[in-house]
Amino acid sequence: MNYFFWLLFLLIHCAAYAQESQKEAFVKGIYGNPERILQAGYSFDELGVNAVFVRRSSLNQEFYQQAKAQGCQVFVEFPTLNGKGYIEDHPEAWPINEKGEQAAPADWFMGVCPTDPGFQAYRAEQLKETLGDYMVDGVFLDYLHWHAQFETDQPVLPETCFCDRCTQLFEKASALQIPGKDISARSQWILANQESAWRDWRNGILNKWVSDMGEILREYQPDALLGAFYCAWFPEDHGGALYNTLGINVPSLAKRVDVLAPMLFHQMYARPVTWAGEYMEWLDKIMDSSRPLVWPIVQAHNKPGIVSPEEFGKALQEGSKTPASGIMMFSEQSLLENREKMKVMQDFYQRTKP
Ligand SMILES: [Zn+2]
Repeated sequence: MNYFFWLLFLLIHCAAYAQESQKEAFVKGIYGNPERILQAGYSFDELGVNAVFVRRSSLNQEFYQQAKAQGCQVFVEFPTLNGKGYIEDHPEAWPINEKGEQAAPADWFMGVCPTDPGFQAYRAEQLKETLGDYMVDGVFLDYLHWHAQFETDQPVLPETCFCDRCTQLFEKASALQIPGKDISARSQWILANQESAWRDWRNGILNKWVSDMGEILREYQPDALLGAFYCAWFPEDHGGALYNTLGINVPSLAKRVDVLAPMLFHQMYARPVTWAGEYMEWLDKIMDSSRPLVWPIVQAHNKPGIVSPEEFGKALQEGSKTPASGIMMFSEQSLLENREKMKVMQDFYQRTKP
């Protein structure tokens, strides 16, 4: 009898240990629609992949089961402030520029007014639905910024959102009275007289999105991780646009998530691949001791130009530097287009411990 209990104790202990060490293993991921990798005849275990980061729209039960059966953690990418597909039918959620007009698309991206209550409820419902359907290892917030385009060497950086709701909320939060009878006059006054308070308020709105989504996640699946994909510009790049336009402050973001996933897209940002390592060094310096995990996403994708397999290998290396405890790549498409890149990734992932 005693023997039986000891055996049971050992079994439980081993299972807990296995679960714990899986959590601590260096994360080696693929981002996008990783199901296509399986359809092409590969398996995640042979590739050394232990995590998939799946677009919400690409997730399905069959793939979820397959990935889990191959020992992968499944993370869902959640398109937080992507307005496309919503604002067309909800013009009240369209971001408004400083002239009082609907902001034009920023290249292929179309954002949203982040204070629109209808849109907030829409995203909250979507997140609850996903968490009701799948036991996930985590949710990664994507498109986490005010309307703009940063995945390019020619950023599109409009001033938004000056809709009446946004300026009234700002007015209330800052105990101000904004003069001016139309949007154009009000926005001009804000930018000329209260620019810094305005930028801070915008950052607060973004942070609230992170906290609100995090609250839903904790309520539904307390063990799942909250991650954030975000633009990996340095604060001084493009005239301070990371904060001024996108609304991102990395230390504040770091306080609100379990995992930071800087988008180290060197070629899109027209940077040398070694810049990815420099970014990691910077990140290590600015974070305090109670820091989130860091799992960067690096570029294999051939747009713009070509990322050679060697360069992709270098990007994986640079992105894995301290403080990274995981890495993932963008995207499955680039691996299927160039099988040499698949090999580079496989070699890197199999070499990387544990
Ligand atoms: Zn607005």
